[in-house]
Amino acid sequence: MRDRDDLLDGLFLSYYFLMNFKQLGIIDPILNALEQEGYKNPTPIQEQAIPVLLKNRDLLACAQTGTGKTAAFAIPIIQQIFLDKKKSNINGIKALVVTPTRELAIQIGESFRNYGKFTRLRHAVIFGGVKQGNQTRALQNGVDILVATPGRLLDLMSQGLVSLKNIKYFVLDEADQMLDMGFIHDIRKLLVQLPEKRQSLFFSATMPPPIVALSQKILGNPERVTIKPQQTTAERIDQSIYFVNKQGKSKLLLHLLKTEPIESVLVFSRTKYGADKIARVLNRAGINAGAIHGNKSQEARQKVLGSFRDGDTKVLVATDIASRGIDLDELSHVINYDMPNVPETYVHRIGRTGRANASGVAFSFCDQEERSYLKDIQKLIRQDIPVRAEHPFLEELDQQPVMQDAANPTDQRRRPAGRNFGRRKFRRNTSRRSS
Ligand code: AMP
Repeated sequence: MRDRDDLLDGLFLSYYFLMNFKQLGIIDPILNALEQEGYKNPTPIQEQAIPVLLKNRDLLACAQTGTGKTAAFAIPIIQQIFLDKKKSNINGIKALVVTPTRELAIQIGESFRNYGKFTRLRHAVIFGGVKQGNQTRALQNGVDILVATPGRLLDLMSQGLVSLKNIKYFVLDEADQMLDMGFIHDIRKLLVQLPEKRQSLFFSATMPPPIVALSQKILGNPERVTIKPQQTTAERIDQSIYFVNKQGKSKLLLHLLKTEPIESVLVFSRTKYGADKIARVLNRAGINAGAIHGNKSQEARQKVLGSFRDGDTKVLVATDIASRGIDLDELSHVINYDMPNVPETYVHRIGRTGRANASGVAFSFCDQEERSYLKDIQKLIRQDIPVRAEHPFLEELDQQPVMQDAANPTDQRRRPAGRNFGRRKFRRNTSRRSS
């Protein structure tokens, strides 16, 4: 009985002390929209960033996707523009959000639409890889908030179709990814076009020295918010390593898809070619899989994503860059088919599962050449990832490569005669060890 009372006390106290959006000073039209979204309480980054932003301070935020960072900047921007508009209705774009990928741009646009649905603010999303007609028409109709990828933005600016002279709020999102993708020069070109007097928000999952230098160019005496993504994400997610050789990876993937309770899984491939190949192999084995990467058209990517979201496709295979913009709440598993060679990327990847505080599962396939990557990852997350299994028949697999890839005639291999992979057991080894 005592335990139950303690529990009830605890629940009451945590309910009582949980911050809500109203206490952060959010106005009714946005509160109503958040309620429709089902957001009950702010996430830590929202709790910390929103009050700072409503005070018109610059912000340097170290936080990754999955922490609720989009709402952390979108909500105060919508609120400020909404209130500004009540005082004076200046035309032109007032907020600019620059983000590295089109998927991310589309998602951020959706967030602005959802959170701002009762404010009548207008937003547009512009990105490359598609004709510009629809985007320029949206711009000509007038927008308050513009979400853009850097290349298309500069392009439309050079055509005189976008003016940044009325920008009051500027967000640079996923700054470290911008750098990785070579957008740094575009960002520099953009910065000189922005009005000096503005509020700037800078978001990055990691803060290596070039990112710190860039942030100093953009921000004036910012408030800092750090949401410890590496530790919190890593702790929330049930991670394990499979030591496997290269040829054994597709067989291991198939085995896991057949034997683990996987509802929806994002499989990471290092290369675009590899992503296509994994998807082909799975489809041939009767498992619905789709691949997204930079060589696919926007239309093809949206189609694959739509099918995945609807549950028609169980496995989504992606490269790191393509995956950046994907917001998938219901992801039960992440599989690192290839180990990432940048340790922070591992944290980004596994952070795709276990979102909004749900727990998730991440499997990583590590071959001999990738062991040094694993070492770096474990150093970064400050924990040894349990080794779930060492492939018990690695040697056999060396002689018996796994599956045929019909689309790739050079990949015609021998089938493992008379072997039933699914029935083989992995040797479990839950003891912690580092490679
Ligand atoms: P983000 O880090 O911006 O990509 O957000 C990750 C996910 O968390 C998105 O699917 C959001 O819809 C969701 N989210 C953001 N803020 C909240 C909140 N306060 N309560 C519940 N879900 C949220």
